[in-house]
Amino acid sequence: MLQFFTNHLLLLIIFILLHESPPCTAVRSTPQLTLLYTDIAAEMQNAGIFCNSRRNSHVICISQLKQYFRRFGYLPAQNYNKSLESTIIRYQSKLGLAVTGKLDFETLSQILAPRCGVPDSDTAAAPRTLHATKDYVLFPGKPRWIRHIPMKLTYAFSNDNMINYLNISDIKLVFKRAFAKWASVIPVSFVVTDDYDFADIRIGFYSGDHGDGEPFDGVLGVLAHSFSPESGKFHLDAAEKWAVDFETEKSPVAVDLESVAVHEIGHLLGLAHSPVKDAVMYPTLKPRDKKVDLALDDIRGVQALYGSNPNFKIGSLLESDISTNQAVHLRIGTYAWTWLMVNLVICFNLHLIFA
Ligand SMILES: [Zn+2]
Ligand SMILES: [Zn+2]
Repeated sequence: MLQFFTNHLLLLIIFILLHESPPCTAVRSTPQLTLLYTDIAAEMQNAGIFCNSRRNSHVICISQLKQYFRRFGYLPAQNYNKSLESTIIRYQSKLGLAVTGKLDFETLSQILAPRCGVPDSDTAAAPRTLHATKDYVLFPGKPRWIRHIPMKLTYAFSNDNMINYLNISDIKLVFKRAFAKWASVIPVSFVVTDDYDFADIRIGFYSGDHGDGEPFDGVLGVLAHSFSPESGKFHLDAAEKWAVDFETEKSPVAVDLESVAVHEIGHLLGLAHSPVKDAVMYPTLKPRDKKVDLALDDIRGVQALYGSNPNFKIGSLLESDISTNQAVHLRIGTYAWTWLMVNLVICFNLHLIFA
């Protein structure tokens, strides 16, 4: 009964607030969306798609949304005036969403989610074969590490660009597990070294503009980025609350270090973003979510580049998939995220933001 009352009170507040918002004519001249709560606005700011001025801190702007799409490869500079609807359709296709051309619940949920900084477009989709059901994506030209098979790649951590609230031993253990995921399916081994300058893969935590033209943006938003072979650069946003164990790290914006490590290693090996939601190469990761097991799509992609590890058995993958699916239902914070999104979509449904 209390839940029923609360829900209706919420809808009443929504109604009142929306009637205090600018009239429709103003919405058309300056497309925008009024939001309900400051915490929602904060979430949107974290995603980098909100107006920054104090007066409009609770208002979404189409220009900011376009900047978001531009940043992740959907709006080339020469096409900046392209219709937002066609851009949304392209985004939905790339992320494996229902293609509606609208900012619906599912689409907004992905736009708001923290994500990898590597753009989604300008990638070459894997050719579909008769039996292919997945859609891994490789970088244009299909770059990969060119070494003799079996291959050994070294990795090292920057001495100057680390975070001090996690033990280095814990960080190294996380990365050891993350590299092992990929090594178990391809004939490539990864060996840690102290020789940072000569390591194949160089890992560090950086803040803001750190000199590679891909500045980080503070808490959430972009979490990390890495580069296609044979760059070896693996950068994590030092502003994030990185977690190696959600039992001890209670922050609502904590990000699982191992999940991001597994994802970025995929880029370092030559995989681009996949539209398959269960794949580790999917571009978004919500706070306190954990996705560390390779999906069949990830394995097909990386084996297309390097071949299979002779010890890899498909049976172990199927067991892993089952455990991953069970874990999805146990994710911490799912309820809170859904609550946020339901409120947001109600706003969008009542307030069309673009003509
Ligand atoms: Zn990525
Ligand atoms: Zn960087």
